[in-house]
Amino acid sequence: MTQFSHNDAQDTIEPLNAQSPQQPLLEVKNLKMHFAIKQGVFAKVAGYTKAVDDVSFNLYKGETVGLVGESGCGKTTIGRCIARAYQPSSGQVLFHNDAEVTDLSKLHGKALKPIRQDVRMIFQDPFSSLNPRMTVFDILAEVLKVNKLFTGKALEERVKELLNLVGLRPEYLRRYPHAFSGGERQRLVIARAIATNPKLVIADEATAALDVSIRAQILNLLAELQQELGLTYLFVSHDLSVVRHICDRVQVMYVGKLVESAPTEQLFARPRHPYTEALLSAVPISNPRQRGARKHLRLKGEIPDPANPPSGCYFHLRCPYATDICQQQAPELKIIASDHSVACHHAEQLTLSGALYADDAEHEVALTEQVTV
Ligand code: SF4
Repeated sequence: MTQFSHNDAQDTIEPLNAQSPQQPLLEVKNLKMHFAIKQGVFAKVAGYTKAVDDVSFNLYKGETVGLVGESGCGKTTIGRCIARAYQPSSGQVLFHNDAEVTDLSKLHGKALKPIRQDVRMIFQDPFSSLNPRMTVFDILAEVLKVNKLFTGKALEERVKELLNLVGLRPEYLRRYPHAFSGGERQRLVIARAIATNPKLVIADEATAALDVSIRAQILNLLAELQQELGLTYLFVSHDLSVVRHICDRVQVMYVGKLVESAPTEQLFARPRHPYTEALLSAVPISNPRQRGARKHLRLKGEIPDPANPPSGCYFHLRCPYATDICQQQAPELKIIASDHSVACHHAEQLTLSGALYADDAEHEVALTEQVTV
């Protein structure tokens, strides 16, 4: 069993197990989310910020897929388009519920209500995502009442059951969020997310605001809930150490586009896109003896403006392997090995460095250091 440890605390994180992926739960096809840039007194549209630009991928039942990339790459926007916090500009988000397939991108108003039960989000900041004027009972009961799932005594029983599921005591029912620690609040947020028995949970930087030992506990809780409730996770994160240990597959984004997608171990051992290589080089190595064994690849320049991206491959201005074709032609996301897709003209010729760890066999990662990419 993979263990997730840090130097002081004894918490372990079990990997989030995937059932054998057969039937996609979600198919994202050519998804675009372009935000209009408005200028002047008449708010004339002067251009578009292409936060998500033609992204396609599948999520399978019971798996955990990591979505990684620098801030502003569009990973959070994808999560919000799937949960329909945003109305996508174009594309399809096909949700498979047994034999029924629903295009979430086409739903409006009341038609969205069933989807609000099946697709739930966990947000980064447990402090701002809970109403400080509501008790624990009110917070959890609200989502059950809005969705007309429980009333009366059964409602209270369900709230207690949810608290139990996330490791909080039922005696906390009448407390307010300020009486809880950060980790306990995040447990409450998770309880609210699973209250409706969702099929898909989008965890948007769900552990980024927590300290190291609490983060391990929350990740273990997510793993337990996945096994118990058969959840599928889309795990949006900048923390590659965490992503490596809990995700079955990883998808890398750059300026609104997917540039690489592969099973986690494959991607970390042998990345095929230069941007992924640079991200992996920033993963901290816990063993001091191995620290000199790998160079941190510092990318030159800044991440391009998604309203005005460069020609050809969006990464060419920062890429150490760029050639003439990279400036002229945008690379397509192509399958280059089993379940491994890359958008790079030279993916097949490049031999890139993977991540190094103190002990790859044990998958030990120092959580005392956080990767920010
Ligand atoms: Fe680098 Fe060219 Fe590949 Fe883009 S297409 S990642 S610029 S080598």
